[in-house]
Amino acid sequence: MNPLRVAIVGFGKIARDQHVPAIAAADGVELVAVASRNASLPGVPHAATLDELLRDGPPIDAVALCTPPQVRHAQAAMALAAGKHVMLEKPPGATVAEITPLVTAARAAQRTLFATWHSRFAPAVEPARQLLAGRKVTSVKITWKEDVRVWHPGQVWIFEPGGLGVFDPGINALSILTRILPQPLFVTSADLAFPANRDAPIAATLALSDAQGLNITAEFDFLQTGPQSWDIDLDTDGGPVTLSMGGARLRAGGKQLVDAAEAEYVGLYRRFRELAATGESDVDLAPLQIVADAFLLGRRRTVEPFEEAT
Ligand code: NAP
Repeated sequence: MNPLRVAIVGFGKIARDQHVPAIAAADGVELVAVASRNASLPGVPHAATLDELLRDGPPIDAVALCTPPQVRHAQAAMALAAGKHVMLEKPPGATVAEITPLVTAARAAQRTLFATWHSRFAPAVEPARQLLAGRKVTSVKITWKEDVRVWHPGQVWIFEPGGLGVFDPGINALSILTRILPQPLFVTSADLAFPANRDAPIAATLALSDAQGLNITAEFDFLQTGPQSWDIDLDTDGGPVTLSMGGARLRAGGKQLVDAAEAEYVGLYRRFRELAATGESDVDLAPLQIVADAFLLGRRRTVEPFEEAT
C-alpha cells in the first residue's frame, strides 16, 4: 500500500510537539507539506494557507488540521471538497452541529473524517476500559488542573469565543471518561468562572450522571501552579481505580497496572491510515456535547481578569 501523504495545517505547538514525530514514527504515513501562515518546517514544502496548498502544493491524500477549533470547520469542508481525508485535532469544532455536514460531505466524497481524541490513545485507557467492564462503578472524580501559562503560552484563541478555555484540556478527561464508561453520560450542573476580560472559562466544576444516577464530579482549573493533575478516580465494587497522568498510568487493587510513556499520536496516525484505506469516518461527539451542555446549563461567575504575564 502506498503511504498516506499528509499535510499538516496550522503549524503550532501540537503540530511540532506531536504530529511531526508521530508521522515520522508511524508506518505508512508521510509528511509531504505544511500549510501555515507564519511557520514552516525546513525541508518540507510550505504554503501559507490550505487554499494555496490545494492549488499549488505537492500531491497530498490527507490533511491534519492542527489549527484552533474556530477555523477548522471551513478548512475541513474545503479539504473534503478537494477529495482529501481529514484528521481533526480535538475538539472537533467550535460548535457541535457544525460537524454533521462534514460527516455528510465525507460520506458523499468517500473520504475519511477522523475526529481525534488523542487522550483515548493514552496507554492506560484501553486497560482501564477492560477492567471497568467487569465492575460496577459507584462514583467518579475528575481532577484536571494545569497552568495555562506553562502549557498554552501565547494561545490567545483559547480564551476567545469557541476556544473552550479550561475545557480545551478538560475535554481530554471527558474523552477518556466517555470511552471507559460505555453508558451515555450527561451534565446535571455546572459552575463556570469567566475572567472579566475573557470570553471562555478559566475554571469549571461539573456534576454529571447517567441513567442509573452515577455520581460524577469534575474539577477543571487553568491556574494550577506546582504539581499538575490529570487524574480520574473511580470507586468501584472491586475497589478504587485511578487513571493518572492523563491516561498514562492505571492503578487498581493496590497495584500499578500500567505506567507507560505517552505514545498517543502514533496510535492516532495508525488509526487514520486504517480509516483512510477504506474511506470510513470515526466521529464521536460525546465529549464536545458534554462541554456544550456545561455552557448551556452552567452558572457563570465573573472572576478577576486574566493576564498571561504575571
Ligand atoms: P497553537 O500553538 O496556537 O497552534 C495553532 C496554529 O494554527 C498557530 O500556530 C497558527 O499558525 C494557526 N492558526 C492560529 N489561528 C489561526 C487562524 N485564525 N486561522 C488559521 N490558522 C490559524 O495551538 P495548539 O496548541 O497547537 O493547538 C491547536 C489544536 O490542537 C487545538 O484544538 C488544541 O486543543 C489541540 N491540541 C493542543 C495540545 C497542546 O498541548 N498544545 C494538545 C493536544 C491537542 P500560523 O499563524 O502559522 O497560521
